[in-house]
Amino acid sequence: MPRGRLIVIVAPSGTGKSTLIDRLKAEVPELKWSVSCTTRPIREGEVDGVNYYFLDRQTFSEKIADHDFIEWAVVHSNFYGTSKEFTDTGLKNGVNMLFDLDVQGADAIKRLYPKDSAVIFIEPPSVEDLLKRLKKRGTDPQEVIDERVRNAKKELLRKNDFDYLVMNDEIDKAYAKLKSIILKEMGKSERG
Ligand code: ADP
Ligand code: 5GP
Repeated sequence: MPRGRLIVIVAPSGTGKSTLIDRLKAEVPELKWSVSCTTRPIREGEVDGVNYYFLDRQTFSEKIADHDFIEWAVVHSNFYGTSKEFTDTGLKNGVNMLFDLDVQGADAIKRLYPKDSAVIFIEPPSVEDLLKRLKKRGTDPQEVIDERVRNAKKELLRKNDFDYLVMNDEIDKAYAKLKSIILKEMGKSERG
């Protein structure tokens, strides 16, 4: 049986990654979505166990000690981690998997699974657009937005370090490009 592929999407907060991933989840159901654990507060509209497993710090620390994560990182002052069991089982059973990670997580996956992984970086048209999108989304207080924009500037310095770069200027165009990359990575053509 072929090993599954690990497809990682990286994008500064506010780029439109969740919007694009929601469409992928609906249109490419055979791609299994990795649900990370996080200590960040749940946002309105999010569902525990669907968007993330929302944990307190103590439970997250116990999972680190138990080696439950293949990688974990502190992002925007909260902890995020990827399930080792999900990834190992998927690889063994030939399941193609989709991960939404920050640059530290993408680096870790590349280091651990250089042959089995592909990383797609999604960039916003500009930092000003990113700020507008975060404000329009309306899910975060101003200080959280400020921190995310500061981190975005750092993450954007890494945009050429991965396997693919997609610009999310016009959403339909960005989605079409992302989907074609993913289908290629899954060993399929656009025509199926
Ligand atoms: P992320 O998951 O990368 O933090 P979201 O998917 O939550 O970002 O998108 C942030 C905001 O920007 C949302 O309000 C979304 O509707 C909007 N958005 C996403 N893509 C575009 C785009 N191409 N043009 C304009 N607004 C967009
Ligand atoms: P958000 O709080 O907006 O959902 O996500 C914040 C950042 O954490 C995003 O860049 C997202 O990709 C990243 N992230 C989510 N889950 C994980 C994970 O399991 N590991 C790592 N390293 N980053 C993650």
